[in-house]
Amino acid sequence: MGAATLNSLVAWLHGFAALVAANRDHLTELDSAIGDADHGSNLDRGMTAVVAALDAQPATDTADLFKRTGMALISNVGGASGPLFGTFFLRLGGALGASSSVSSLELASALRAGVSGVTVRGKAELGDKTMLDVLVPALDAWDAAPDPGDVAGAARAAAEAAAAARDATAPLVAHKGRASYLGERSAGHLDPGAASTALLFRALAEALEA
Ligand code: ADP
Ligand code: MG
Ligand code: MG
Repeated sequence: MGAATLNSLVAWLHGFAALVAANRDHLTELDSAIGDADHGSNLDRGMTAVVAALDAQPATDTADLFKRTGMALISNVGGASGPLFGTFFLRLGGALGASSSVSSLELASALRAGVSGVTVRGKAELGDKTMLDVLVPALDAWDAAPDPGDVAGAARAAAEAAAAARDATAPLVAHKGRASYLGERSAGHLDPGAASTALLFRALAEALEA
């Protein structure tokens, strides 16, 4: 598939919400090991609000879709992940503008804008054991896909890299967020935000393959 349609991007958000709901307890367990045991419930609350907003008023274009997604996350999630995922989607929507179909290259570049929003807001660096440790390798894999113009293939490559990058957060020592309070004791556990970010890319690959 050469382009991502508005419908497929709406399906991405619905798919992500469903994966978060199904993995809610798992995400919260990960956060109970190195945080405050709320990541699954935080994100589930946020994505449930996103789906409710989109069901109440269908998105007219990509700018509207991701702006309302970001706002719903920021206003419904108290934890660090709400403003960070919220900023990601606000920047994504701003970069895509009001479109009904976007190419693989446009989507990759807009996802990068989302990641730079997370970096500016959270000030984490690579290796700090955060969602950034999945976002960056996933987009690197998107760019390195055999045919970066094939949006479904590139998203599949990104999702596979995201799963591997999630697993690679286990040995890291956290330097940002609540897990950093544990210092060296944060090593040996997956980062919860890395795990949910891997679900974000899995949902995108599934939505674009459908
Ligand atoms: P809180 O830690 O406030 O309870 P959550 O549990 O919902 O919020 O989210 C925790 C996740 O947020 C972490 O696993 C990490 O991936 C991510 N995170 C926390 N702080 C930052 C940051 N400064 N930059 C990027 N990601 C961060
Ligand atoms: Mg937490
Ligand atoms: Mg919290």
